[in-house]
Amino acid sequence: MTTESVIVIGAGIVGTATARALQRAGHAVTLVDSGEPGKATSYGNAGFIAIDHVLPLARPSTLKRVPQMLMDRTGPLTVHRPSIPHLLPWMARFALAAYSQAEVRKGMDSFGALMAEANVAWQAEIQASGLGELFRSRGALYVYESEAAFQGGAEERELQKAKGTTFEIVDGNRARELAPGLSSHIVRGVYYPHGMHTINPYKVVTTLAERFAEDGGSVQRGRVRGFVRDGNRVTAVQLTDSELPAKAVVIAAGRASGELTRLLGFNAPLVAERGYHVMLAPDNVRFEMPVSPAERGFFITPMAEGLRVAGTVELAAPHQPPSWHRADLLVQHLRAIFPGVGGVEQSRWIGERPSLPDFRPAIGRAPRLSNVYCGYGHQHVGLTLATATGRLVARQMEGEELPAALAACDPGRFG
Ligand SMILES: Cc1cc2nc3c(=O)[nH]c(=O)nc-3n(C[C@H](O)[C@H](O)[C@H](O)COP(=O)(O)OP(=O)(O)OC[C@H]3O[C@@H](n4cnc5c(N)ncnc54)[C@H](O)[C@@H]3O)c2cc1C
Repeated sequence: MTTESVIVIGAGIVGTATARALQRAGHAVTLVDSGEPGKATSYGNAGFIAIDHVLPLARPSTLKRVPQMLMDRTGPLTVHRPSIPHLLPWMARFALAAYSQAEVRKGMDSFGALMAEANVAWQAEIQASGLGELFRSRGALYVYESEAAFQGGAEERELQKAKGTTFEIVDGNRARELAPGLSSHIVRGVYYPHGMHTINPYKVVTTLAERFAEDGGSVQRGRVRGFVRDGNRVTAVQLTDSELPAKAVVIAAGRASGELTRLLGFNAPLVAERGYHVMLAPDNVRFEMPVSPAERGFFITPMAEGLRVAGTVELAAPHQPPSWHRADLLVQHLRAIFPGVGGVEQSRWIGERPSLPDFRPAIGRAPRLSNVYCGYGHQHVGLTLATATGRLVARQMEGEELPAALAACDPGRFG
């Protein structure tokens, strides 16, 4: 006989961490994915636990930079041209959110609350699931190629300072000491001594999924295609040729979450902010921390299997062919920042950051449904916020109120 359990849809980092949190809260949990755990966006990120990112991307300064970024074909942002008709409504909503002082304030407050939770949540999960081997606390370094770009980061640094973040502003020489091999043209750096990263993001997901199964959780392969409802409750989740009885449901399906919320009568206007990575065989890598050339919008992260160069943004509609020249660009950027570092390319990858137009994730109970919860829309910081999301959803399921600032992440805000 199949018993009712909490069904978590999506075994990326967000769904898997949420399944773990719910399991610890005493629920019987089934984690369902159409593919293998951790093989979608959570596979190839830059591995950085970005708890110091307290400013949402939807803000006036980002918007101001957009035209210039779009004109630079080698820049950190591009739009997949055939996708423009699909993207326009999202872009308009983004512009409105970025220009509204009230929305920006909500973004800052909710990010403050989320990042504070993330800090605690990762430490707890690393302990609970024995993930210590997969993480390094080596700090992180943002580097700047011009004074103007460095000054451009002042607003975020002020906020970080106000929130108690520790960082050190360094000159080019000190940056080169921290990350040997950095190019001589780097003029400034901001060093975050408490920065943490994983050396294998994929293994973090698979280890969490293994621990979940060892502790009695069920991992099932299957595409969710529908829901059985009884009034405002979902009683079962429909897969292609079976049904899973549900005590509650968590939607954590990354970029595809909108397809599921539509079936349940609410909107999740997600687009894919596509990013790329290239893995290089270690060659002359003499630094141990993630390094991010701020103007170019990517990370260089030393990982277990080599050096990962990951990032930049390509807005696109779903299911479009990759633009692999964006991956070539990452390698060119690396050579500019660390001449002589890199090695032979081992593999390349594309992933879809699940992004809502106000750049706040959707966390919490779904509108008009009593037993459906959400955890999607984590855009650039899904790894960072995964364990926090899990804990918050588990608490809400127990009847606890979420912190007031997280009303801004209400999944019902898009109707
Ligand atoms: C280049 C790049 C660099 C990044 N660097 C960082 C970083 O350094 N730090 C950070 O915090 N974040 C980073 N991110 C962001 C982070 O990777 C994402 O926010 C995160 O992986 C999203 O996780 P997810 O679990 O929501 O989605 P996913 O990992 O995409 O998982 C969703 C899962 O849902 C499943 N699914 C979808 N539809 C269905 C369905 N109908 N039925 C069943 N299963 C379904 C999919 O198969 C998939 O496994 C980066 C992203 C990119 C692209």
